[in-house]
Formats: sequence, structure tokens, C-alpha cells
Amino acid sequence: MGQSVLILIKPDGLKKSLTGNILSRLSETKLEIVAAKMVRVSKELAEEHYQQLKDKPFFAEIIKYLQGDLHDRKKVMALVYWGAEAIKKCRDLAGSTNPEEAESTSIRGSYGRITTGGIYENVVHVSSNPSEAEREIKLWFTPDEIIVDLYAAKDIIQKEIKKKVWA
Ligand code: UDP
Ligand code: MG
Repeated sequence: MGQSVLILIKPDGLKKSLTGNILSRLSETKLEIVAAKMVRVSKELAEEHYQQLKDKPFFAEIIKYLQGDLHDRKKVMALVYWGAEAIKKCRDLAGSTNPEEAESTSIRGSYGRITTGGIYENVVHVSSNPSEAEREIKLWFTPDEIIVDLYAAKDIIQKEIKKKVWA
């Protein structure tokens, strides 16, 4: 049985030009990429993403971090990987949340840092369990943006929805 996992390359990863390195590290897992895009993160999206941490003292700072306010890079790269034991494989590669405790060869151990303010700038987000992965993937992606059917979806007809199309 395959699992899916949401990966975010956070603004520090983009600022440090680590996209290629991170994607090659993740390719070692032999998992399949089933969705990928660049996202400009709104405050609402960041707060929803980290909703479980809203009572933590560092909540406001990690919202700014994910929005790119700390790095002058207002974007993240969002990806969905799919395959056997996807979550464990990706979390192992990412390393511990605290980059000082992360294995030195892991992504966070290699490229993360702790700011003087105490925030862990750890380059990547990786969902930590299947239900969190499902909640996060549905938050970051629409069914149309994922090339396989991961979760139940339905067709609806929407009228008078304003959206941009090529001129
Ligand atoms: N974080 C932090 N200090 C902490 C715990 C978490 O700065 O003491 C940040 C860190 O960037 C982390 C994010 O908040 O990646 C989300 O925390 P979580 O506990 O979900 O860790 P993760 O699942 O990312 O390893
Ligand atoms: Mg987490």
C-alpha cells in the first residue's frame, strides 16, 4: 500500500538555492512525484497549515517564516510524493526538527540552522503521519493538480467564478 506525503521546500531552502539538492536527496527514496508547484503563501494558508501549533510561543514566527517574511523570498515549493512508506522515508531523509540534533548527513542537518530568535529554520516540511498528510495535501492542492487519485473527489459545476485565463 502506497502512502502520500506533503513536502514543502521552505523559503530558506529557496533562498539558499537548495531546490536541486533537496530534490536529488528525495529522489534517493525512489518515490514518485505526483504533484508540484510554487506557492505564494498567505497568512491564512500558513496558519491553517500549522494549526496544531497555534498555542506554541513560536507560532507567530513560524507563520512569518513560512510566508517568507524572514528571507525576502515570498514563495515555497510544494510537492506530493507517493509510494511505499513515503512518510518514514522522507522524514528520515529530512532529519530531526531541530537542525542541531538532526543527523549531519540529513537535509536539515546539512542545511538547517537555529536563528538567534530560537526558530528552527530547517529548510523542508514533511508531513508526519498519514492523517496529517491527507489534511495538508488537501489544503495545498486541488484534486486537478495531482496526477493520480489520492483521495475521494467529486465533480461540481461552478458558475460565475472569477478566475484568470490566458489573454
Ligand atoms: N519549530 C521551531 N521550534 C520548535 C518546534 C518547531 O522553530 O521548538 C518550527 C520548525 O520550523 C518546525 C515547524 O516549527 O519545522 C513545525 O514544527 P513540528 O513540530 O511540526 O516539526 P516538523 O514536523 O516540521 O519536524
Ligand atoms: Mg510537523
